[in-house]
Amino acid sequence: MNAPAPALGCTNTPVLKERGQREVFCGLTGIIWLHRKMQDAFFLVVGSRTCAHLLQSAAGVMIFAEPRFGTAILEEKDLAGLADAQTELDREVDRLLSRRPDIRQLFLVGSCPSEVIKLDLHRAAERMSVKHAPHVRVLNYSGSGIETTFTQGEDACLASMVPTLGATAEKELLLVGALPDVVEDQAMALLAALGITKVRCLPARRSADALAIGPNTVFALLQPFLGDTHAALTRRGARHIPAPFPFGAEGTTLWLQAIATEFGVDPDLFAKVTAAPRARAEKAVAAATQTLSGKSIFFFPDSQLEIPLARFLTRECGMTAIEVGSPFLHRDLLGPDLALLAHGPTISEGQDVDKQLTRARAARADLTVCGLGLANPLEAEGMATKWAIELVFTPVHFYEQAGDLAALFARPLRRRALLAPLAPDMEAAE
Ligand code: SF4
Repeated sequence: MNAPAPALGCTNTPVLKERGQREVFCGLTGIIWLHRKMQDAFFLVVGSRTCAHLLQSAAGVMIFAEPRFGTAILEEKDLAGLADAQTELDREVDRLLSRRPDIRQLFLVGSCPSEVIKLDLHRAAERMSVKHAPHVRVLNYSGSGIETTFTQGEDACLASMVPTLGATAEKELLLVGALPDVVEDQAMALLAALGITKVRCLPARRSADALAIGPNTVFALLQPFLGDTHAALTRRGARHIPAPFPFGAEGTTLWLQAIATEFGVDPDLFAKVTAAPRARAEKAVAAATQTLSGKSIFFFPDSQLEIPLARFLTRECGMTAIEVGSPFLHRDLLGPDLALLAHGPTISEGQDVDKQLTRARAARADLTVCGLGLANPLEAEGMATKWAIELVFTPVHFYEQAGDLAALFARPLRRRALLAPLAPDMEAAE
């Protein structure tokens, strides 16, 4: 049984809205996980050398196969408006597509520099789609860092695909969000065991796995940062199934339950299918809970996973949330998680990094979740931190990953506890 919802959740908690300096990565980061997922797609960033360096260092590994992303570098003469960037871009794309017949979907990804010179990538994508159809479909979206956070890149990418999807009148379930294939397979297996077999995923692994949507499409989100995609699907007539996000044993069960209710699944079958994996998840979470229970946590706004994770950590791992910051608060998406998160923490939206650092230092939570740029200074001040970006790069959804998700938060606390006895010796040695 799930624990009852709190008498007073965070649904009506006043939100502290901040509009100051931010400390986040830009949306180009999403290419790192999207290019792995979409096996015949190519992401061509139209940007500067800075953008190319970001991608290269975020990718973190050498690429031995043909890469599925690259950067068309805007040189100084492009930025000064001396060259016809559209013509150069056409030439780059022609060269790429003639060399790489395996590419079936090409994304032109906008950046700060391409937006500064107002390079119209939408027009470019339309022109190239006509030229390279039917073999290649060319789309565009923005990964620019201005006023965005890194998970918005995936949202913008998926939203750009929605208008191009075919139409259907069939009742089908669409799972929305890029998960590692192995985790997606687990979700599909659970749904199949519940008798739900007309299921598709956005993004699909290959462009030939044609997706179609219509008024009888229902969709479940896998990530809480897909606000634009949610809006685009709704405009096409599809209907969202609201649910807590599938993090932890409880979150996964409630997410599956919402879909099962929509498809009229027999409650006995639901209990039978979920009992064993759910028990495994609870056992795995309990191992990390020994470390997490009774500890406090403070979230800087970064991945947009903050509210569902605070729900998981407070309800399943015994933690206390002090502040839960999110870059954006999409209530249509986060409503069920907010209702389950017990009243108490400050809920903040947006960022004014200096003010928030002051609050975090005053709170001195046992664990602070933040971006890479803030983690090192806070660690140097003796605070335990967790990098928010790891939560997006690590498989954390559904029952089989629930223990790993809890362990991600337990690890920095365990490390700190192990190092604590050594701290006086280390200080003396300095
Ligand atoms: S898109 Fe903007 S923020 Fe991102 S790497 Fe390029 S210049 Fe930097």
